Amino acid sequence: LLPGATGEDGRPITLGVMGGGQLGRMFVQAAQEMGYVTVVLDPDAASPAGAVAHHHIRAGYLDEQGLAQLMQRSSAITTEFENVPAAALLTLGAQRPVAPGADAVAVCQDRDAEKRHFRASGVPCAPWALIETAEQLATVADELLPGILKTARLGYDGKGQVRVADRAALAAAWDELGRVPCVLEKMLPLALELSVIVARAADGTLVHFPVQQNLHRDGILAVTQVPAPEVSEALRQQAVQCAQAVAQSLRYVGVLCVEFFVLQDGTLVANEMAPRPHNSGHYSIDACDQSQFDLQVRTLAGLPLAAPRLHSCAVMLNLLGDLWFDAQGTERTPPWAQVLALPGAHLHLYGKAGARPGRKMGHLTITAADAATARAVALQAAALLG
Ligand code: ADP
Ligand code: MG
Repeated sequence: LLPGATGEDGRPITLGVMGGGQLGRMFVQAAQEMGYVTVVLDPDAASPAGAVAHHHIRAGYLDEQGLAQLMQRSSAITTEFENVPAAALLTLGAQRPVAPGADAVAVCQDRDAEKRHFRASGVPCAPWALIETAEQLATVADELLPGILKTARLGYDGKGQVRVADRAALAAAWDELGRVPCVLEKMLPLALELSVIVARAADGTLVHFPVQQNLHRDGILAVTQVPAPEVSEALRQQAVQCAQAVAQSLRYVGVLCVEFFVLQDGTLVANEMAPRPHNSGHYSIDACDQSQFDLQVRTLAGLPLAAPRLHSCAVMLNLLGDLWFDAQGTERTPPWAQVLALPGAHLHLYGKAGARPGRKMGHLTITAADAATARAVALQAAALLG
């Protein structure tokens, strides 16, 4: 699907995306840079991607008419969040190229399937047990406690998970989560968290971004640093190899992120994966010669993939809705003028109207020639933002 070309029906090549959040918005922007027409399906009238795409189909993800319109308009279709119903992807995939495919997305949607896939790919992950019945709950191995009980599906940003110290807390937590299928994971002694983003083309070409070091607050990504400051070259190579193995064994097409823990004894453990660009890869827009969204466009359109190159050191700060309120709780505009006076500051706002605590409103990437400068400027930005 060459950029700017015309399809057999005489209409411009159009790339479609299921979901209209910020990831969809940045995909649309990357596609538009290359001259593609874009269409977004999202039920929300105020969707960040719908606002910038050529066409916004306002419909639910299982709405037959909406899906029919998306297929009619799109030459190929991608997704921007992992919880797109599998049935919708199957419908779309029957008539249009869809990347990533329904099978791969289904594995990423289910924490138990995801962990089984890690294991089958030879990638270590936390010891876990699937809990779907009261019996499984009662017979869970002692060695998984203390642990974290996570809903098998639909969790994100630390939502749908409860830390449990003992069996009594585990039973209470399962009740609290509504007795839905869950995984109990052993609580691991983390030293730090990493992620690796790969892009894989239909012909098997596989490229990767540098290893990202991530800091979470309250289960939400707060800071990403590249190059990862506290990670040895050997560990970086191991993380990249694991991410590649996971993508390869899924026969994945598209952009995939694998999150890792580094334990206090230095071992690497896979945590989870996302079948799409990832918050920890947003720095690539400003610090790499090709962003994760550029590669999502290329994998979807069947264009050649070249390895992305990091040309600047980067620190990315997530901008959550909390920053839109002062200490008294009064709404404010964050001090962008002062932030943008800092060297190497790149502000990205997603065009969301209502700021709420914990809501991802945008991100700020600081680029610099060296890591110490990027870090120092990022600290200044964080101090300004308060
Ligand atoms: P989400 O889908 O919400 O991102 P994760 O499984 O990535 O869920 O968990 C969110 C965060 O919780 C992780 O980034 C990590 O900081 C912490 N965490 C998750 N699982 C474990 C574990 N087994 N041991 C220790 N910390 C964990
Ligand atoms: Mg996570």
